[in-house]
Amino acid sequence: KVGDKDVPVDELLERPSKQLDVPRHPKILRPRKLFGARQNSDGLEFGSRSELDALLEGMNAAPVAAEVLPISPDDIDAMMARAGSAFPKWRDTPAKVRAKILRCAADGLEDNRDALMATLSREAGKTLDDGIAEIREAVDFLRYYADEAETLCVTRELPGPVGEENLYSISGRGVWATVAPWNFPLAIFLGQTAAALATGNCVIAKPAPQTPIIGAQAVEILNAAGLPKDVLQLAPGGAEVGAALVSHPDVAGVAFTGSTATAKVIERTLAAKDGPIVPLVAETGGINALIADATALPEQVCDDVVTSAFRSAGQRCSACRILYVQEDVADRMIDMIVGAAKTLRLGDPFDQATDVGPIIDQNALNRLNGHIAEHKILFQGDAPTEGTFLAPTIIELKRDQKLDKEVFGPVLHIKRFAASDVDKVIDEINSSGFGLTFGLHSRIDARIGYVSERVGAGNIYVNRNQIGAIVGSQPFGGHGLSGTGHKAGGPLYLTKFVEETVISTDT
Ligand code: GLU
Repeated sequence: KVGDKDVPVDELLERPSKQLDVPRHPKILRPRKLFGARQNSDGLEFGSRSELDALLEGMNAAPVAAEVLPISPDDIDAMMARAGSAFPKWRDTPAKVRAKILRCAADGLEDNRDALMATLSREAGKTLDDGIAEIREAVDFLRYYADEAETLCVTRELPGPVGEENLYSISGRGVWATVAPWNFPLAIFLGQTAAALATGNCVIAKPAPQTPIIGAQAVEILNAAGLPKDVLQLAPGGAEVGAALVSHPDVAGVAFTGSTATAKVIERTLAAKDGPIVPLVAETGGINALIADATALPEQVCDDVVTSAFRSAGQRCSACRILYVQEDVADRMIDMIVGAAKTLRLGDPFDQATDVGPIIDQNALNRLNGHIAEHKILFQGDAPTEGTFLAPTIIELKRDQKLDKEVFGPVLHIKRFAASDVDKVIDEINSSGFGLTFGLHSRIDARIGYVSERVGAGNIYVNRNQIGAIVGSQPFGGHGLSGTGHKAGGPLYLTKFVEETVISTDT
């Protein structure tokens, strides 16, 4: 029996639920139906006006959730003790039962679409496109890790000398701390958490302080799907709660998404603890570049750069921060990009006409404005005067200027390069030490091969935009300062969360 309501395992396994219902190929995955709407790389298309109206009506009717109050750092001890007591039973729960609960939760996300969309908009400023894509990604993570855990978490008999039996088994490690970012407060929150749960770990999950309500809704949906309450506990709060959580002596692992600086603090905290060596799975930032050479199709470059730099108000780790454009075609391409950026509408995320929503909070906006103030602006659009909006901004860098930090918002930097300087551009990109996403637009196969072999990045996108990695098709995560790996939504991710044992018996 599992779950608080003691749902018999047989009954749970018989509940209808879907497995990852999609072939793992982007061309097939991308245009699939999303809750009555279709999404492709150009955004969201509703089959009919009434589908959109129904969604908006549902969102408007969703109750504004009560405030989620932060816990005190002192609460962590008791939460850890509860999770520790729940661990052995959850670890020994068959993987197919754990997977079943995650699949039921995925169905629960789909069933609660309107309420989740409303929270994503109200709390995180997500546009309708981004809200739907985020719920889709969260559903995909749950189903993907459910499938993967069923394959990974089995006991295998390994070959060995005659007269000896070798049993190799895989199990959860203990209580994981998952620390989520505000920019994907549902998908990444659930992705990290589901990976730990699927492999038989208990979790204390800390949502970002800006987005605790969507985290609380996600936990509720998992509990309703049969997940015992002590197996997953929510720890809303700021840096102090995070510090108490990761420094707790009983933490068996940490999965974190956020800045490189915070990842390093966590790494040092874990290293300074007595006791076992604690694994850290960190997905951090990037100074993501896109190179467009003179053979690239200008219209496509323009579309993909604008999407990569400004969609989600640039608040994605994958977003394009700097475009290197070959000088021979630079004037034309820059004109087109500025023209397209001018058409972007900023405003209420509930409005389907909105392309770019707000910046997450005033502090983030101040930081962005501080960066912009240090540069010469090539273009800046109009933004509503009320609210934390930042209009898409384009800055042209001179040859001797370098972008040396991640600017987490709708700010695109552009730099021209000479045809003979491709190697210099590659060196400059690699010299940042980050390596998350990289975009390349070119029609020369030899150049595509040459450049993509030399730029160190975890996700390389050729002749398309560089955001919106798809679970199971484009495992996401970077090299160097961009994270530890393994990639989220990829075949190795779950292996970070488990412990292996071999029992060798003389027969
Ligand atoms: N996976 C997201 C993408 O490909 C970005 C995740 C993040 O911003 O942390 O756009």
